[in-house]
Amino acid sequence: MNDKEKPPSETDWQQNLKELFQNANIQFVQHPDMTTPSSGGTEPSSDPDEDEAEEVLQRLRSFNLKPREVRDHLDRYVIQQHEAKKVLSVAICDHYNHVRYCLENPSLQERAFSKQNIVLLGPTGVGKTYLMRCIARLIGVPFVKADATKFSETGYVGHDVEDMVRDLVRMTDGNIDLAQYGIIYIDEIDKIASVGTEGTRDVSGRGVQVNLLKLMEDTEVNLQSQTDLIGQMQAMMELQRGKKQQRTINTRNMLFIVSGAFDKLSDLVKQRLARHPIGFAENESVEDIADQELLSHAAAQDFIEYGFEPEFIGRLPVRVACKPLGVGDLLDILKCGEDNVLEQYRQAFRGYKISFNISDEALRSIAEEAAEQHTGARGLMTVLERVFRDFKFELPSTAIKLFKVETDTVAAPEDALKKLLRENTAGRFEALREEVDAFATRFKQEHGVGLLFDDDAIHALIDISLETDRTIRALCEEKFKDYQHGLKLI
Ligand code: ADP
Repeated sequence: MNDKEKPPSETDWQQNLKELFQNANIQFVQHPDMTTPSSGGTEPSSDPDEDEAEEVLQRLRSFNLKPREVRDHLDRYVIQQHEAKKVLSVAICDHYNHVRYCLENPSLQERAFSKQNIVLLGPTGVGKTYLMRCIARLIGVPFVKADATKFSETGYVGHDVEDMVRDLVRMTDGNIDLAQYGIIYIDEIDKIASVGTEGTRDVSGRGVQVNLLKLMEDTEVNLQSQTDLIGQMQAMMELQRGKKQQRTINTRNMLFIVSGAFDKLSDLVKQRLARHPIGFAENESVEDIADQELLSHAAAQDFIEYGFEPEFIGRLPVRVACKPLGVGDLLDILKCGEDNVLEQYRQAFRGYKISFNISDEALRSIAEEAAEQHTGARGLMTVLERVFRDFKFELPSTAIKLFKVETDTVAAPEDALKKLLRENTAGRFEALREEVDAFATRFKQEHGVGLLFDDDAIHALIDISLETDRTIRALCEEKFKDYQHGLKLI
């Protein structure tokens, strides 16, 4: 085969797909244990992805997690949301126990089984997606997140709901056996309620609901979308390589989670409860229920009034509301949540061998400022970004390896940084001096000519670097760019 006939290399494809997934905000969540070699006497295949997938399938075949164990795992990462953790743990165990039965006894596949598809209600940034990501990671199944607003009824204008299923297959590198047990998370589902703001019926919202309904139930989805060119070309490549193709995937064993803020739903719940205060003690009234609690009382009829088709909401039997996060919860996230956003900042600084100590008061003021934004834990990211932005930019080019974050730093990070840099001027000078030496070493390696900088030259370079706010590296590279040519001539 000559070069022209060669198909693009596998790595090119993987890169393309990776970019595609990144753009589409999709992640393949792998279980941490998936990197260990497979046990159980199965012969490892030459493809590591296949080995990993086989190992997850093996775990599904012997799925034996208890709801409490799932809850305990979630507790490590997710603060609050106790009710949601409980409900999700039970639903997840039920679902994957059923998957295990079907894997043990394929004839059970054909029996009717009501899936535990889930509706997660609650404001933004309170951990709805995070809960499901943690669960997918625990079990090792692929996880796809999509926005309901992206879908159109026909799939021509926006995306087709079936694209999510195909994304699951891509996540598993085409392993349909594994993809069929994946989790699909659809956010902003409240936006496809078919009652418009003026009480009008929104036909396209209804159409998307009907399409989703079929998908959630039991549908054979064609693996090749008409609009997915990459997928079609990849299929052609697989065919060239002689791989046998399965054309469809069934959604019967996939778990669907839909979520949304459902802002106006609490009003409907309130009105209904006021009309029929069933389940309340005599001296208790609907007015006693805090607004944020109302969502947890939402019933099917409220969803229907909100604009959902009865069949659609009927396919989502597990409903649970996540609570807004207060200052204390946000503080707990920073202090106790594993892998929390502050840890990510620590990790980023660690890349430059820099660490920081943060006081309890500073953590509290970050949590307070974040709470004011009413975006849940996302507020923490915004505040931390503001606080650390300039530190991340400046400190890697200095000799500073440890710094403190106090309430002053949170209130005025720029001033705190200036103060820190001033206090470390001597250290900074040393660091810049080392950069000059590093440039001389590189120059010698590249051109075989040694450059000796005397103290005056070093001081002059450092002065220019500080004045012009440029690194020594950039400065030297520009100043000495023609030297090697001239020196070679000599
Ligand atoms: P949403 O409720 O809108 O789906 P996410 O779950 O995507 O929000 O939350 C965004 C990020 O905020 C998560 O990735 C996580 O880092 C953090 N986060 C949100 N809620 C919590 C929580 N209850 N406990 C710990 N971290 C949380």
